[in-house]
Amino acid sequence: MNIHEYQGKQILREYGVAVPNGIVAFSPEEAVKAAKELDTGVYVVKAQIHAGGRGKAGGVKIAKTVDEVREYAKELLGKVLVTHQTGPEGKEVKRLYIEEGSDILKEYYISLVVDRATDRVVLMGSEEGGMDIEEVAEETPEKIFKEVVDPVVGLTGFQARRMAFNMNIPAKLVNKAAKLFLGIYEAFISKDASILEINPLVVTGDDQVVALDAKFNFDANALYRHADIVELRDFDEEDPKEIEASKFDLSYVSLDGNIGCMVNGAGLAMSTMDTINFYGGKPANFLDVGGGATAEKVTEAFKIILSDSNVKGIFVNIFGGIMKCDIIAEGVIQATKQLGLEVPLVVRLEGTNVDAGKKLLNESGLNITSADSMADGAQKIVELVG
Ligand code: ADP
Ligand code: MG
Repeated sequence: MNIHEYQGKQILREYGVAVPNGIVAFSPEEAVKAAKELDTGVYVVKAQIHAGGRGKAGGVKIAKTVDEVREYAKELLGKVLVTHQTGPEGKEVKRLYIEEGSDILKEYYISLVVDRATDRVVLMGSEEGGMDIEEVAEETPEKIFKEVVDPVVGLTGFQARRMAFNMNIPAKLVNKAAKLFLGIYEAFISKDASILEINPLVVTGDDQVVALDAKFNFDANALYRHADIVELRDFDEEDPKEIEASKFDLSYVSLDGNIGCMVNGAGLAMSTMDTINFYGGKPANFLDVGGGATAEKVTEAFKIILSDSNVKGIFVNIFGGIMKCDIIAEGVIQATKQLGLEVPLVVRLEGTNVDAGKKLLNESGLNITSADSMADGAQKIVELVG
């Protein structure tokens, strides 16, 4: 789960991490009120969307007066911001963060991620801040430093200081930077985050080390113990299909392709997607209806696929273990009765109650292409979609 920059900074504040003063605003009037309250020489008006790259896309404006804050707020609110992370459709700006301007001497990069190779949290830093870290990794990988954290001990003061030295933080500010690194680690662990990226971290003219941006991502599997984080969820930023799916406890992720997939079990769902790709197709979604899904749940899952206008064909690939094939067939029939079926549908059923399932589908009058194996089904749907 993602949150906005201003929400991330509030969490950081609670862990003693230095961030500029700022106030969220939903209208130009609120932006003006916020600026008056901040009462500083330079204001920064920042579009709040769940995507980075706002600066380059015109989503971060520097204002010298309250009147300029009003103008920028009017310009940004309601604007569709297209950054390299939003995709071409962009994201509409509905919230702004009005922040005190920092006197930046230099921008750095610092982040915490869960590294799957070492199964550990890694602190990653660079003196090349403010730009895409992917670019730095590509062109000057020697400028990225890592500290692998022992989960029993946590990030140590020594590691934090070594990172600060490696990043070429001015010597007199190394301790301040190290303290900040320990603070972000504390926040990261306490909130079960999966990513925390601060780009840029800055050193200011008055010798402060400040987090100027904050991108948090939280582990969805740990949200049950973080009611405070769940509250920060912004439905405007999420795919409506994914919101609908989460209501029915379905594991659903929207993708760029045009073949809708309904599968049970995450492993089978992954291999189904791979097989579709292998035969030259592109999945429109990942969908695992789970082991013990009811006909109602399957109906809702199929409705979500049917309502996706990008879907030009559907592949149902079910291995009936705990899940029974006739339940799947019922769900498919229910959903198509309600919404109709205008795209090709390939079904591969195997396992518990497979004959009952096939019988239901055959007698449903739906135009279904049946498949004997996953490979056969994938090939057929790729052909039908064309
Ligand atoms: P994004 O990563 O989405 O582009 P950032 O929050 O990193 O957004 O802001 C982009 C750039 O804008 C920063 O690299 C920094 O140069 C400038 N900036 C952001 N916030 C401030 C601030 N409070 N004071 C001064 N400059 C800022
Ligand atoms: Mg940034």
